[in-house]
Amino acid sequence: MAGAADVALHLVVIGPPGAGKGTQAERFAREHGIPKISTGDILREAVASGTSLGRQVQAVMDRGELVGDDLITGIVRERLSRPDVARGFVLDGFPRTVVQAQALDEILAGRSPVIVVEIHVPDGELVRRVRTRRICAGCGRTVSVFDKAGAAEACGNCGGKLVARSDDSEGVVRDRLKVYRRDTQPMSAFYSSRPTYRRIDGAQTPERVRDALVAAVSSALGKTTADAGASMTARGESQA
Ligand code: AMP
Repeated sequence: MAGAADVALHLVVIGPPGAGKGTQAERFAREHGIPKISTGDILREAVASGTSLGRQVQAVMDRGELVGDDLITGIVRERLSRPDVARGFVLDGFPRTVVQAQALDEILAGRSPVIVVEIHVPDGELVRRVRTRRICAGCGRTVSVFDKAGAAEACGNCGGKLVARSDDSEGVVRDRLKVYRRDTQPMSAFYSSRPTYRRIDGAQTPERVRDALVAAVSSALGKTTADAGASMTARGESQA
């Protein structure tokens, strides 16, 4: 893929709570040597360490609602100004509203276009997944106790304690799905007409979802490279 390696990879993984965004974003970022940036992780860390940001957002997060667009956009703007994103990044949990998506376009103006992959999973499956989801208090990794037949008490990665997220109770999950439909789904429409938008089926094994994600990014990246080439040709520049 000559030329594609020169294009920084700006990947946004979107989907409802429990779709597997975090797991897939983490793996993709590791395999491609670029940072995964999860706004949920950033906020949870702030809550755990009791910073003023953490105190500001804890109640909103516990109710399953979204924190303000300006607040979260400011956090992402600062994070995307750091040097470790020079080769790209994977965003997980941001943007979540049309306003945030517009802000991301503005933050990335002049950089490679964003590739958006939406992971689709039916609602019933989402609720089941989120009920069995645990997060490691040590390394932050997400695991499903369903897959381990309820036996996993310690993280297989670092031995840390597995705990349920405070916003993963069934009632809060249903509220988060409502919030998703109301605030985040319109964002799919915002992105879906772009040549760099792809939708993949998340109701399959994590390995198959991973393969679908890699294929979606390659095809979208081919598209952005072709677009970049076309616009360079239009400006009379070489595509070498
Ligand atoms: P997540 O881990 O992505 O499910 O995020 C957990 C919670 O953090 C969400 O339910 C929101 O309360 C908050 N949050 C994370 N990302 C955003 C965002 N982009 N906009 C608003 N709130 C967010």
